Amino acid sequence: MSYTEDRATWYNGQGLWPNTPGSDWGNWTWQFRNRITRLEQLEQYMTPTPEERAGILFASQKLALAITPYFFNLIDRDDPDCPIRKQVIPRAGEAQLAAEERLDSLGEDEHSPVPGLVHRYPDRVLFLVTDRCASYCRYCTRSRMVSNAQHYDFHPQHEAALEYIAAHPEVRDVLLSGGDPLLLADNKLDYLLGRLRAIPHVEFIRIGSRIPVFLPQRITPQLCDIFRKHGPIWMSIHVNHPKECTQALKDACERLAFAGVPLGNQSVLLRGINDDPEVMKALVHRLLRMRVRPYYIYQMDLITGGAHFKADVRRGIEIIEALRGHTTGYAVPQYVIDAPGGGGKVPINPDYIERINDQEVIFRNFEGRRFRYPIKSTPLVPDSGEIESGSERPAPEALASAKLAPHREPVLA
Ligand code: SF4
Repeated sequence: MSYTEDRATWYNGQGLWPNTPGSDWGNWTWQFRNRITRLEQLEQYMTPTPEERAGILFASQKLALAITPYFFNLIDRDDPDCPIRKQVIPRAGEAQLAAEERLDSLGEDEHSPVPGLVHRYPDRVLFLVTDRCASYCRYCTRSRMVSNAQHYDFHPQHEAALEYIAAHPEVRDVLLSGGDPLLLADNKLDYLLGRLRAIPHVEFIRIGSRIPVFLPQRITPQLCDIFRKHGPIWMSIHVNHPKECTQALKDACERLAFAGVPLGNQSVLLRGINDDPEVMKALVHRLLRMRVRPYYIYQMDLITGGAHFKADVRRGIEIIEALRGHTTGYAVPQYVIDAPGGGGKVPINPDYIERINDQEVIFRNFEGRRFRYPIKSTPLVPDSGEIESGSERPAPEALASAKLAPHREPVLA
């Protein structure tokens, strides 16, 4: 059945927590303290399937269970296939391993000169500032370390990382990630951003965060002031499904945008959650309405216990084909595979080119119609010697009487 939604409606309200004072509900520390982290807590609100129950019991060995009350409200408790539910409630499949899966699927640890810093590309570094998140995504690339369920004992060394960046003038771009950097207290973030901005060769800072999605209450005016003070700061949020686009997220994005933070979105292609052109189209349209540019769709990394989420790559290509030309160009993200083992992001595109050589390129458009674009210019041929010897350009009268040089028929289907 194709996905449909009421485009005029943005989910709002306190859902299962109607009696919580609004001052608590809107307070990010209340949301954080009242997260659902245990099976008994979850059972107060819903009945997990046997598969989910097994997954929750295994979570303490793999990746902790944590769901903010705000995000829990988005779950359809009557539908085991709810796309929100599948993202945050563990399933038994997490305990099943496949041969190609790796704990550190992108080989980040091999490129870490200082704990918490990954320097793989020449001009930029990844600065992992914490291993904690507001809620935990069951397909997380860094599930080896976040929440510390696997006893990775991640201890980022912020000062050592700052010193490393300061000592490497080739680093012009720093990406703060984790875990979720926006879980750091305001004064800590202010300090880190200030230190980074004081390094002359750091041209700008990026932040990767799912906090606006799990905990939009964290995007306070005070936090926005910090971003305003230390900009340019770019932020990638992480929305996978249109149901995550609530009024609270929309408002949080607006606060960020008005603080001068350009916003992009990174989705992970997840089987049975968003590997559907209609779902993705609804998502990218909502993103643009929230001032967020759809940036990447990632093929899921080959993390341990993730096979039940793995979507078919051909499905991803189909989604891009369904978007390109069929909707606003700004709405079309780049589909990428982060090459296993650390080869970097590689764009995966539908194949629009049928043939290309020194003369021409033959390609098709979004409707499947075929076109020819000549690579080699075909000179205009005058009727007879009107072009004076030595002149660089034909005289205007010569141009007027010139005929198009014969060329092959355009290829049009
Ligand atoms: S918010 Fe990011 S780091 Fe945290 S669990 Fe989700 S994907 Fe992983």
